[in-house]
Amino acid sequence: MKNLIIQRVTAIPLTARMPDGTRTSQGDFGAVSMVLVQVETADGVVGYGECLGRFGPAAYARFIQDVLAPKLIGQSAFDIRRLWKLMRASLSGRAGGMMLECMAGIDIALWDVVGKGTGQPVHRLLGGMGRDVVDCYASSLNWAPIDAMIKQAHAVTAMGFKTIKVKLGQPVGRAIEAAAAVRQAVGPHMVLGVDANWAYSLDDAVKVGAALDRLNYWFFEEPIVPEDVAGYGLLRQKLPIMLAGGESDFTVAHARELIEQRAVGLIQPDVARSGGISETRDIATLAHAFHVGYAPHVGWSGAICVAASLQLAAAMPAFVTFECMCIDNPLRDELTLTPTGSPSQLVNGQMPVPKLPGLGVEINWDAVERYRVDR
Ligand SMILES: [Mg+2]
Repeated sequence: MKNLIIQRVTAIPLTARMPDGTRTSQGDFGAVSMVLVQVETADGVVGYGECLGRFGPAAYARFIQDVLAPKLIGQSAFDIRRLWKLMRASLSGRAGGMMLECMAGIDIALWDVVGKGTGQPVHRLLGGMGRDVVDCYASSLNWAPIDAMIKQAHAVTAMGFKTIKVKLGQPVGRAIEAAAAVRQAVGPHMVLGVDANWAYSLDDAVKVGAALDRLNYWFFEEPIVPEDVAGYGLLRQKLPIMLAGGESDFTVAHARELIEQRAVGLIQPDVARSGGISETRDIATLAHAFHVGYAPHVGWSGAICVAASLQLAAAMPAFVTFECMCIDNPLRDELTLTPTGSPSQLVNGQMPVPKLPGLGVEINWDAVERYRVDR
């Protein structure tokens, strides 16, 4: 039996240009960044994790190497929650921000190590629901001129998606017009959601949300700033449409406020931000207790975040739908030897779950060398 004693922790910052970029209500984004975390054990098991490190990934890597890694050397990777608490104890103040994202990358790598060390995919270690495939949605139509949004809608429909998310922003009038145009273009049976990336005030959100409900949209994601939890509670009372949010939360303590008020119908933690698989599992379990759905946020993250999210999607009882990004992201598409969470893998509009031990992916070191920014 392996003991999985941690011998080495390495953090590699990566940045890649996106061929087409992407556009939300918050602006244009032309590059993606992340940190690849590698954990090696004395018995020869190697696991991988990912930190959501959108800005300054080299700073994340330095923090991992200098502050977190020394706490892990000589410890058993089986004790994941104890190691999480050990790392947490080195961070002063409320848990959050870049430090929690660094911890997330290590936590994911530890789950990969334990899965590989025991020969089981992570979703089985989590007490899986036995899912081989998971429901998913196309993410996202860019906030763009209406004719371009309709063109994108037709493109993702042709890929076989049964649910599509649409990015909306300001001004409110054009947002409502775009939502109506997309509904008209895809017909009454396509399931639609909206992500506003905090574009609205409470009053604007009421106007847009009411229009979306009339147009038979399913959910309305992050209409207002994530810090305004009370605002989400008010919106919940004013709007019939289901609200979604939580990608900006770092811990179960943050997500708890949205969940226990049932302010959102879908909670969307990002495993590479919200403390890794361990903390995200707790968020999804809490959501289950409150009859709130769990929908993993993936965004522009890389292949390790996508694989970890698929493992959680396969295992969590509260899981509802998986975010399948329809953008060319080199850190998702090239970082592993086989595709992970890519629209090219859709089977009847659903996404297959990786089957190999651990996260179920193998690293493409050519791509790591291509995109590393630490030399
Ligand atoms: Mg979002």
